[in-house]
Amino acid sequence: DRTVSMSGSTSTDSDRTPVRVDSQDSQVSDTETVTECHRWPRQNSLSMREWDIPHDELKFDKLIGIGRFGKVFRGYWHGDVAIKVLKYLKDEKTLEHFKMEVATFRKTRHENLILFMGACMNPDHLAIVTSLSKGDTLYTHIHLRKDKFNMNKTTIIAQQISQGMGYLHAKGIVHKDLKSKNIFLENGKVVITDFGLFSVTKLCFENRKPDSIGIPPGWLCYLAPEIVRNLHAHQSHDEELPFSKASDVYAFGTVWYELLCGEWPFKTQPPEAIIWQVGKGMKQPLANLQASRDVKDILMLCWSFRAGERPDFIRLLNLLEKLPKKRLARSPSHPIHLSRSAES
Ligand code: ADP
Ligand code: MG
Repeated sequence: DRTVSMSGSTSTDSDRTPVRVDSQDSQVSDTETVTECHRWPRQNSLSMREWDIPHDELKFDKLIGIGRFGKVFRGYWHGDVAIKVLKYLKDEKTLEHFKMEVATFRKTRHENLILFMGACMNPDHLAIVTSLSKGDTLYTHIHLRKDKFNMNKTTIIAQQISQGMGYLHAKGIVHKDLKSKNIFLENGKVVITDFGLFSVTKLCFENRKPDSIGIPPGWLCYLAPEIVRNLHAHQSHDEELPFSKASDVYAFGTVWYELLCGEWPFKTQPPEAIIWQVGKGMKQPLANLQASRDVKDILMLCWSFRAGERPDFIRLLNLLEKLPKKRLARSPSHPIHLSRSAES
């Protein structure tokens, strides 16, 4: 039986149906399956090998940054790449989980998603290899460089995020960690990273100090009420937070807010206060946000307390498309500085 359920890693509660993984790979002979099963989940034995990058083929260059997953290096493998070396608990279950995630990544081919190139499956050097983004993240633009995007640019960015996210959701993949740090802007093009990796990273939470609530800074404001309300339960290895397509939409709402306001919602409030408010359905007030009704409506829809009331990305694309577009005319009556965007 080659049918497996990938529900734990890639799909929502509502679409927790078993899926067939790569029926074209079904021609694996029994002998092959037996010899391979020590390295790969049986159903993926042949196709997974294509994505396995031997550790000694990877050239490591400088460290780019350290995130929740572990270290990210600039590297070289048939060109410039980003190598994400995962820190994880070295147990069989996690390794299997990781392999399932990789089976998911290779299904992704979209302009607005980072190019997944392969993975290093050596248990001592678990790593994901993707194309190297030459641009800056939305986080860097908004929070570090304090760039201001005009409404047209903001809408175009949001549309591209929605395109990429709509594609992921159509493939049954829940991002689980959509945030401005995981969205790159390359010459005006949006590139989303780190989709579906969260299940692997949650194991890192186990290293947290018992007295801290173990919440990385800047993470809470992306979490939908149903997730915030479950945070206390997130103690054991086996307990999954209820991420879903709708919780991705909530996180998109927060990115939309960052683009509009240049800051995070609930800024400067301690985690306990945010948890209490969001869990009760309270939202960041928009009184100081100078934007049209339609723009604020999108925000409120994405931040709906009930997951079922949040729009999907197809509807969001529709709503974004309907926003009035200001003409970027550069006639004497429209001085250039008024239409200058962060990147122009
Ligand atoms: P986070 O997303 O929380 O910043 P990560 O571990 O994902 O943590 O990333 C660590 C650092 O590496 C960040 O500065 C991020 O921008 C950078 N980075 C991650 N992936 C890539 C990539 N594909 N290309 C270039 N830089 C990357
Ligand atoms: Mg990241």
